[in-house]
Amino acid sequence: MAHQLKPESLMMTYGYKPEWSEGAVKCPIFQTSTFVFKTAEEGKAFFEVAYGKRERLPNEELGLIYSRINNPDLEILENRLCLWDGAEDCAVFESGMSAITTVLLEFLKPGDLLLYSNPLYGGTDHFIHHFLPRIGVHIVGFKPGMKQQEIMEKIEKTGHADRLKLIFIETPANPTNDLIDMVMCKNIADHYGNKDEKVLFAVDNTYMGPLWQHPLKHGTDFVVYSATKYIGGHSDIIAGAVLGSRELMVRIKTLRTFLGNMAGPWTGWLLMRSLETLKVRMEQQQRNAVKVADFLNDHPKVESVNYLGLIPERSPEYAIFKNQCSGTGAMVSFTVRGGEPEAFRFLNALKLIKLAVSLGSTESLAEHPKTMTHTDVDEVQMQEIGITDSLIRLSIGVENHKDIIWDIEQALEAV
Ligand SMILES: *Cc1c(COP(=O)(O)O)cnc(C)c1O
Repeated sequence: MAHQLKPESLMMTYGYKPEWSEGAVKCPIFQTSTFVFKTAEEGKAFFEVAYGKRERLPNEELGLIYSRINNPDLEILENRLCLWDGAEDCAVFESGMSAITTVLLEFLKPGDLLLYSNPLYGGTDHFIHHFLPRIGVHIVGFKPGMKQQEIMEKIEKTGHADRLKLIFIETPANPTNDLIDMVMCKNIADHYGNKDEKVLFAVDNTYMGPLWQHPLKHGTDFVVYSATKYIGGHSDIIAGAVLGSRELMVRIKTLRTFLGNMAGPWTGWLLMRSLETLKVRMEQQQRNAVKVADFLNDHPKVESVNYLGLIPERSPEYAIFKNQCSGTGAMVSFTVRGGEPEAFRFLNALKLIKLAVSLGSTESLAEHPKTMTHTDVDEVQMQEIGITDSLIRLSIGVENHKDIIWDIEQALEAV
């Protein structure tokens, strides 16, 4: 049997041939807007495929035309991203938000119903609540912990159950690490879909990077990323990605061509560089996060800790965790005893950990969800999902865990 190389072994070479570029071991930055055709016939053939005028012939690649349609740095990056999630195809965007909004715009039209989980990333939440209703799309949300029956009753109550077209979830939920069962969501999609028209199911997998959770293996149609986070991993780039079947990705890529929100060659090149260390970075971050969560869990000034590694084995959440996650991640949130003043005292006293939003990067970051990333969420809902005055979110980096814990310990002394 042929030896199957693992994704981390392929990130340095996959999809690139040195002979394309004077023997350069690394894929160069193809900083060009347009590509020269060998003949007019070749140009015609490339356009026929790019614009869907005919099917691709066996072994026919999409020819290079113009960097809004394709570019070697993007294509090689997309092929590499496919390896982690076992996806057929991938599209990279200039931000996570453009990846998410392109999925929503392509698969929802006026009169359709979207089912989404709460809480969602603030930008996604804003688009769903403020933009989609303006174009006549109906929306209905559900919370982690709700049973399938309860969610289906909510769908029926909208009066638009027959127009349910898309399910969009984030699991684990940010910032509480609550899990949503993908199998249950897939059952809902199957219940309302039929052979002719499926209800599509997308998961924003940013919180687990491409390493610790593979939604496509649980029957979802799309996995979506803010590549700004773990994939980029150095807090120096904004980008996004969508992965799925070849058939559905044609639609995403076509809309991307006409919205013009693809990533540029420089972004593509930087992300390829990031992917070479994706696994070592994420594993180190996770090892550190386990130690930080344990430390917080034992600290008298800490009321509660939300971390996937601390889910009690007998809880229903643990079964979901075992089924859909292969790691516990590097995102930890916790509440300090007290309220906003105590939380702020902690944040202001940090020395090594930076006070900033975003996550998944080499440096550790801390923020206050209630007044920062989730400030747009309405007050009642905020209470319901556990975003309180004293909640702090940490993204754990690759520093020495003793230094991270030293910093947290001295900042807690200030509380
Ligand atoms: C950051 C983030 C986004 C948005 O991505 P951008 O790259 O900032 O546009 C979407 N979803 C989640 C879960 C995120 O953390």
